[in-house]
Amino acid sequence: MLSTICYIGLFLLLAPWQEDVYKAKREKMVSQQIQRRGVKDPVVLKAMRTVKRHEFVPADQTKNAYDDRPLPIGYGQTISQPYIVAYMTEVIKPQSHFKVLEIGTGSGYQAAILSAIVKEVYTIEIVPELGKSATEKLKTNYRNVQVKISDGYHGWKENGPYDAIVVTAAAEHIPPPLISQLKEGGKMVIPVGSTFLTQMLILVEKKNGSTTTKNLLPVTFVPLTRKKSE
Ligand code: SAH
Repeated sequence: MLSTICYIGLFLLLAPWQEDVYKAKREKMVSQQIQRRGVKDPVVLKAMRTVKRHEFVPADQTKNAYDDRPLPIGYGQTISQPYIVAYMTEVIKPQSHFKVLEIGTGSGYQAAILSAIVKEVYTIEIVPELGKSATEKLKTNYRNVQVKISDGYHGWKENGPYDAIVVTAAAEHIPPPLISQLKEGGKMVIPVGSTFLTQMLILVEKKNGSTTTKNLLPVTFVPLTRKKSE
């Protein structure tokens, strides 16, 4: 009994201290990994400083949550490197009135970052277990996010068109349904290429009814898988 009280007491004493440690790690992550590599948008930097990345990784990865690399999240999937999350968020030039679609919810972290900046976030995950766990993580503090378990190749037509689309799994080509669900003037960022090699992160813009693409940087993402039944 006494030892239980001692443990609870120790936990209550250390919990706030632990949060400060994570806050300091986030500050360092932003200045050393993100700002140093050129990300400048203040709303993106603020979201990266605020969202608790350690709450989106599996328990055995919490100590690595702010490392400069992707981390395993189970089911052969990964949470992207913090810099890549920040870069992709900056590239779509997010604004507070935006409605954004994300393909590849994974841990829910990218959706949480978007949620802190824009008005509405719709995110699709194909692995049901990941979709459910992300829904749980997002439901209290990120209420403007809706998660759907489905094949994101088809987008989420009912809520479109979107001001921006962020695809966080590598596609062999740009899915036509996603282009059609992008607003006029909208931006999509998507890794395209072979899933065995590095892919190219591409910025797609829809202007005057036509679509332009621009190569941004080489990246390595897990593949955008397809559901055979759909
Ligand atoms: N954005 C995530 C990381 C994505 S990893 C994060 O912040 O953690 C890529 C994710 O895309 C994986 O969870 C994978 O299961 C999912 N995925 C792969 N193919 C998909 C598809 N066709 N539709 C929706 N999600 C897909």
